[in-house]
Formats: sequence, C-alpha cells, structure tokens
Amino acid sequence: MDGCNAVRSPGSTLKPLVYGLAIDKGIITTATMLPDVPVNYSGYSPENFDDKCNGLVSAGQALAYSLNIPAVSLLSQVGVPHFTDKLRRNGFEAIKSDQEMGLSVILGGCGVRVTEMGALFAAFANNGVYAPLSYLENNDSIRTSPLISDAASFLITEMLTKLVRPDLPNNYESSLHVPKIAWKTGTSYGRRDAWSIGYNRKYTIVVWCGNFNGEGVPELTGGDIATPVLFDLFNAIDYNSSSEWYLPPASVDFRLVCSQSGLPPSETCSDIITDYFLPQISNSKKCTHLREVFVSADERFSYCTRCLPESGYKTKMCKNLPPSVTAFYQLNNITFEQVPPHNPECTRLFSDNAPVITSPVNGKEYLLEKNAGQQLQLQCQVESDIHWIYWYINDKFHKRTKPNEVTFFTPDAGAIKISCSDDKGRNEDINVTIKYY
Ligand SMILES: [Zn+2]
Ligand SMILES: [Zn+2]
Repeated sequence: MDGCNAVRSPGSTLKPLVYGLAIDKGIITTATMLPDVPVNYSGYSPENFDDKCNGLVSAGQALAYSLNIPAVSLLSQVGVPHFTDKLRRNGFEAIKSDQEMGLSVILGGCGVRVTEMGALFAAFANNGVYAPLSYLENNDSIRTSPLISDAASFLITEMLTKLVRPDLPNNYESSLHVPKIAWKTGTSYGRRDAWSIGYNRKYTIVVWCGNFNGEGVPELTGGDIATPVLFDLFNAIDYNSSSEWYLPPASVDFRLVCSQSGLPPSETCSDIITDYFLPQISNSKKCTHLREVFVSADERFSYCTRCLPESGYKTKMCKNLPPSVTAFYQLNNITFEQVPPHNPECTRLFSDNAPVITSPVNGKEYLLEKNAGQQLQLQCQVESDIHWIYWYINDKFHKRTKPNEVTFFTPDAGAIKISCSDDKGRNEDINVTIKYY
C-alpha cells in the first residue's frame, strides 16, 4: 500500500486555503470578527468539533481553533467553485470537475493525497507560490503557479504559528521543545484520518496517521496523535528553526482597528488594536459595532425619529450585532447592551428587518415518513424589540409564539406556503414541498 498516494479525507487541513482566498478577496484580515453561531445553508448545518459556539470570534482565532462554522461561512463567501478550482489547478487530482462539491468540502468532504497536501503547504511556506513535488534536486522543468498572494500567505502563516490553541499536545506546553513552525491539524469524520502538517522556511512535513483499511479509531485526532510526531520530526531535522522566520512582505501593512469588529475604528470605538492588512484590498469600511439610539429616560423603550417625544428621552450606545448573533446571545442568556424594545405606541410600519425564517428552509423538499408523527420545526430570527410572532400556513393563521420559541407542525403533502409576521407587521414568506413515503 502506497500511503502517500492513497486518497483520504483531509479533515480540517484545507481550511488555511479558504482563509488565504478570503484574505485575497478583501473579506477578512486576522482581526476580522466572524459569527460563530448556529447557521443553516439551504439545509446544511455545520457544527464545531466540540459542538459549542462562541458568538463572535476573530478570523485568526477561528483558524487557530479550527472552528467549522466560520470556515464554512468563509467558503460560502469565497464560493465553492473558486475554492475547488484552486485545488484542481494546483495538483489535487481527486477533486473532480464534474463532481458536485458542496460546502462540506472544507470540513473534509473530499479526497486528497499526502503528496498533494505536502505541495499545498509548501506553497504556504513559499510565499503562496505553488510548485508540484519534485523528487530530483535542481529540477528545472518545474512550473510554478501563484496559489495565493504573498500577503495572504504571510497572514495565514502568522495565524498558524499561534501557540495558544487546543491542538497543541498538553505535554508539549511546558516540558518539551516546541519547534517554531506554522502547522494545521485535521481529524476526519469517524476518526479515520489524523493529520498534522507543518512548515517553516526550510521544511514542510506532512504527518498522516490512520488505518489503511479506513477503519476509525476513537483516540485518533490530529492534535493528540499526529502533532507530537510532527514536532519530533522538526526537532530531529531542524532543532533551532526559529532563527529565520517570515517577515511581512511589502504588500502587507499595519493599521489600527476596533477589536469588536476588526475594522478601522469610528469615534465611538474604544478598544483599538493593531492588525496586518492589504492596502487597497482589505475591507476598510468604518466600524459600526455600536449604534446610537434614542431611548426613554428609564431606558425601557427606544424611539425612532417618527415617535421621538419632544422631551424626556436620551441617547444610548447599543451593540449593533448581526441578527443571528443576537438570537444566539438571547437563547444562551448572554447579556449585552441591546436596543430596548421599540416604543409600543409607535405607528411606523417597519419594512426592513423583517423576520427571517430559519426553519424550514425556503425552496426545500422535505421527505417525511407516513404515519410516523413527523413534524416540521418553525423557527425564525427577529429584531430585538419584537414581542410576538405570528405563523401562517397557506395563509391560514397557525400559532402565536414568543421570539426564539421553537414550535412544530404536522404538514400536509404538497406545496406549502409558510409566513411569519412580527408584531410590527413585517412579514416573510417561504415555500416548501412536503412528500410522504
Ligand atoms: Zn468598533
Ligand atoms: Zn417609533
């Protein structure tokens, strides 16, 4: 059995590439805050390795901690075709063009070889320039190609060099020599493959552990099993590797950003940090992590310009979070400076920020077992000032619920229109198809 050419699941080891592509598209820098909350992409709901969510995390931490939800979110922004095209053009032969690849490719839902992973990480080690593996020294016939920019390569190398991360084996923290390397671990579904791939300026090493027959082993994880081998190998061939580390390329600069968003601060931001960025490329919108709202003197209600009284109000800075993060904080009883409920006497009909139905998924076909009592879950995200939600099935009133309350219903077969209105009169409709078998 040729282990180097066996096609295996990469687990999380392809994640650095999607971060690199997202950096080159200006979507993120190291400090960009990303939502790490339950999401649903047309029926696909990724979960983290430890089933926990963190609210908002920086891109740098999300990669160092190998969080699944931010990686899937970045892949959906970068685009699966762009990502798989990069892999195919850079030596990954098992990523077929005619294959329908989905978002799960970033969590190991594809096939790779040890040799292919070696060439990929050697490109990260070589300022983002890809070269196919060569078994000869001074091979002039090799054609190189740009995988990601030198700037993106430098940023992901910085992220992968962090020592505070869960995949650093416990016994290495204090007693043993940790080589200065950038590394990424991976564990495939069913614990069939454990990876740890590391590099410095001189060497790139791929460690893969697993059974050739594909049988999983409960103890098999990249961090516990493969990383100690990787560190031992680096210590054996390059003990004091830290002397020559990567320097920022000319295409990278420093800037000040707000720690709450990773974006250039506005006047109201107080916690300012420094962050690498790509001038002309990285997102440079000003931070809006806080917004000023009009509230009653006792802060029980908020006002809009329509219902603002002539006196007896004040202004307050409130957290401006994506609805998915707000819903997550509320469900988990995490307190934050949220906008107080809107003035109940306000007559303005809000047209924006309508409810977003998160379950069921618009346009999807649901296959339910006949006479098994199977039900569909109704769930939505609404603005923080909403008290009641009204559900309609095929334009007939179904139920009134509290925000974030999960409710179920037994659907009839066929096409179903589901509507959700909030107590401000804002509405969303979706359509699903039900089939019984
Ligand atoms: Zn800010
Ligand atoms: Zn109002």
